[in-house]
Amino acid sequence: MATKEDFYKLLGVDRNASDAEIKKSYRSKAMKFHPDRNKDNPVEAEAKFKQIKEAYEVLSDPKKRSAYDQFGHAGIDPSMGGGRSGGFGGAESFSDIFGDIFGGGRQQQRSNVQRGSDLRYNLELTLEEAVFGTDAKIRVPVLVSCGECSGSGAKKGSSPVICSTCHGHGQVRMQQGFFSVQQACPTCRGSGKQIKDPCGVCYGQGRVQENKTLSAKIPAGVDTGDRIRLAGEGEAGEHGGPSGDLYVQVQVKDHEIFTRDGANLYCEVPISFPAACLGGELEVPTLNGKVLLKIPAETQTGKLFRLRGKGVKPVRGGPVGDLLCKVQIETPIHLTKEQKALVEQLSESLSGGGKHHSPQESSWTDGVKSFFDKLTG
Ligand SMILES: [Zn+2]
Ligand SMILES: [Zn+2]
Repeated sequence: MATKEDFYKLLGVDRNASDAEIKKSYRSKAMKFHPDRNKDNPVEAEAKFKQIKEAYEVLSDPKKRSAYDQFGHAGIDPSMGGGRSGGFGGAESFSDIFGDIFGGGRQQQRSNVQRGSDLRYNLELTLEEAVFGTDAKIRVPVLVSCGECSGSGAKKGSSPVICSTCHGHGQVRMQQGFFSVQQACPTCRGSGKQIKDPCGVCYGQGRVQENKTLSAKIPAGVDTGDRIRLAGEGEAGEHGGPSGDLYVQVQVKDHEIFTRDGANLYCEVPISFPAACLGGELEVPTLNGKVLLKIPAETQTGKLFRLRGKGVKPVRGGPVGDLLCKVQIETPIHLTKEQKALVEQLSESLSGGGKHHSPQESSWTDGVKSFFDKLTG
């Protein structure tokens, strides 16, 4: 397939040309290549005329133009870029792109008055924001009702008229052999109304694309997977239909200290070998600041300490969770000669005296012994 010429080039305008500039340029080009004016070279002129017409049809339609700007010819022509599955066909182009971005399904209905699509927005929160709640600013591209024509699609001061084909029914009867088949009216596409004088801002669509900044109140205690529904903040409906909803999908980022499991928080706390032996007090972090944790003497590594009520208050109610601190006993490093001698001295002292000083080691040794006894016995 021959590559298509760039639509902007065809019309001789630059990429941020205004609608008026596009229209003006189209008129003069169409005039120049009109078959009636090119009697000596009609075939070539007609081909050129068609190309210009196609370019204008796309660039004069805000939806199609936006799709073309993003995806090129594949954005507007199903025969380009791998056919139907890869392309975005005609008038549906914009909704298809939105569907891909937001996962919102658009239902095809008989009536032309349609509720706008629901949109989804993925919101990343820090753990603190999720636990305490926040006011999130959300910027979403949405199709909103055109302010110029109040969504009617008709030029200000005018209003849509009753469709002359179906007389406002939106449906027409077609005779097919013996059968009479009811179909959506091809003139008004089922709305029963016709726009004689389209709005200059939305070109009769009744909707325009806008970036909307919303403020979403995120309640305290939300977690990954929670959804917050902002009613009526989705895409505007077509032809005066109600707006869809916006769903804010919460994703909580990893925290450098805490991991969360429902209402509980976990953290690992390193403690020194002498502190583990002798016991003591330890400052541990919580989301509300530091608290003192009492470590009893002879604490083993891996022991969990529970700080009641220092976890998360669940968004759907229920008791506040706990903070679970897991202590990790650290083996001292960079020992001096003197310190090594002291450890040796300690080791000798621990192995003498006939007392068990290593609770896990002795039970582990016993376990290994009985394991081998069973194998050989
Ligand atoms: Zn409008
Ligand atoms: Zn009609």
